[in-house]
Amino acid sequence: MRTLETLHFDNSFARLPAAFYSRLSPTPLPDPYLVHFNADAAGLIELNPNEGGRPEFVGYFAGNQLLPGSEPLAMLYSGHQFGVYVPQLGDGRAILLGEVRTRSGERWELQLKGAGRTPYSRDGDGRAVLRSTIREYLCGEAMHGLGIPTTRALSIVGSDQKVFRETVETAAVLLRLAPSHVRFGSFQIFYYRRQHEHLQTLADDVIAHHFPELAEKKERHALFLTEVVFRTARLMAEWQAVGFAHGVMNTDNMSILGLTFDYGPYGFMEAYDPGFVCNHSDHIGRYAFHRQPQIGLWNLSALAQALSPLISKEAASEALDQYEPVFNAHYITRMARKLGFKEFQSGDAPLLVDLLALLQANRIDYTNFFRALGNFKQAPGEKNADLRDRFIDAAAFDAWAERYRARLLADGARDEERKNAMDRVNPKYILRNYLAQTAIQKATLERNYTEIDRLLTLLKRPFDEQPDQDHYAAPPPEWAKGIQVSCSS
Ligand code: AMP
Ligand code: MG
Repeated sequence: MRTLETLHFDNSFARLPAAFYSRLSPTPLPDPYLVHFNADAAGLIELNPNEGGRPEFVGYFAGNQLLPGSEPLAMLYSGHQFGVYVPQLGDGRAILLGEVRTRSGERWELQLKGAGRTPYSRDGDGRAVLRSTIREYLCGEAMHGLGIPTTRALSIVGSDQKVFRETVETAAVLLRLAPSHVRFGSFQIFYYRRQHEHLQTLADDVIAHHFPELAEKKERHALFLTEVVFRTARLMAEWQAVGFAHGVMNTDNMSILGLTFDYGPYGFMEAYDPGFVCNHSDHIGRYAFHRQPQIGLWNLSALAQALSPLISKEAASEALDQYEPVFNAHYITRMARKLGFKEFQSGDAPLLVDLLALLQANRIDYTNFFRALGNFKQAPGEKNADLRDRFIDAAAFDAWAERYRARLLADGARDEERKNAMDRVNPKYILRNYLAQTAIQKATLERNYTEIDRLLTLLKRPFDEQPDQDHYAAPPPEWAKGIQVSCSS
C-alpha cells in the first residue's frame, strides 16, 4: 500500500506533443475540508485507506498542493454538443494530475474536477458545485456496483467559496479516476483542424495503452474503431436494461473506453417511460431515454469520420455496421435474464414489448417491477397479487402473466432457482434522484455527510437484500416527483 507521497506516477499523456494539452496548476481552493473519501477507489491505485485521514490529503485533493510526481494539465478536445460541432472545448475546469501505475500494471488517471480556470474555460468559472460533485461521486459508484463500466471517484473536497449558478452554491473538487479520459472529441479536434499527424499519434497512444493486442497490426486503426463500436454498443445496452439516462450524450462526453462518463443531469427511470428526458434543458428530447442507442451510433459515426484519415471508408462502415447487431444481442441477453429466461428465444420479443407497454400504460416503477417479478409463482391458479396489484388494468396483467407462465414452464426452471438468478440481475437499489437529493441537502445545508456514506454502502451491493434498508427501494415520494436536473453543475 502506498502513501500520498509514494504513488507511482508515470504520466504518458504529458509526454504527448504540447498541442494535446495545456500545462497548468490547479487554482487553490480556499479553506478546503474533506466531504468524503472512498476507500474502495483508493484501493484501485493501491493507496492506503488511512491516508484519507491525513490533513495533507485535503490539500492535495483540493488542488492546493501538488502530489509528488504529478504533472498537471488540461486536455484539449472538441465535440458535437446537441448535434452542433463546437470547434474547441477542452477541460474547462478539470485538471489531469497524471497517471498512477499499480504493481499489477494497471494505469489510472487522476483528474481533479472543479480545480479552477484553464485556457479552455471560455466563460466558465472553472469550478464545480458541491451538489453536482456529490451526484457524480454517488453515481459512479452506483454504476460500478451494478457492473456497468464507469469512471470512479476517490474523494470530494469542499469549500465555502461561493459559486454562482441558478442560485448561489458552494464549490467542491472531485477526484475522478479512469484508465483514460480520452473522448471521441479528443480525436475530432485534430480531424477538424486537419492535424492528421496528431490524430495518428493519439490513436497509437490510446492503442498502445488500452488496446495493446492491436498495436502490431497493420489494420490497427480500423480494429480500434471496431472495438470502440463494440464497447459503446454494449454500454448502451447496459444503460437501456437498467433504465439509466445519461442526459448529455455529446461527443465530448463519450469515453473512448466505453465508460459511463461525465455525470451531469443523469437519471434512473422510475415509472417506466421510454420518452424520459432527465435534463430539463434538453427541450427537444434529443437525449431522451429511448434515443440513447441511436445517439450512441450517431456519436460513433462522428468518431469514424474523425478517424477517416487513418481508415478506409469501407473499413469504417464495416465497423459501424457491427453496432446494431452487437447492441441487440447484448440488450436481449440482458432482458432475457431480467425476465428469468435462460436465453432469449425468437418468440420472446412480443412478450417483452408487451410488458414494457403495460409498465408504461400503468406507470409502474421499472426497477421495482423487475425485482418483484423474481417472486412470480408458476403454480396454476396463482394470482401473483403483489405484481398484479401494481396494475390499474389487472386484466391486462393477467393476460400477460398467462403467456409468461407458459414461457417459464417451457424453460423448466423452478421458482426458487429462477428467483435467485433474477435477483442477481434485477437490482433492488438504484440511485433514485430523490435519494441523491436527500444526501445533497444534508451535505449543503447541515454539512452532514452521513447520507453519502449510507448510499455508498447501499449501492455497492445493489442486488443484495440489506436489512432495514427497504425504504431506499421506495419509489419517489410526492415532494420529489417534480425535481428537475439541469446542465448547470
Ligand atoms: P459538460 O457539458 O459539463 O461536459 O461541459 C462541456 C464543456 O464546458 C467542457 O469543455 C467543460 O470543461 C466546460 N465547462 C463546464 N462547466 C464549466 C465551468 N464551470 N467552468 C469552465 N468550463 C466549464
Ligand atoms: Mg463534459
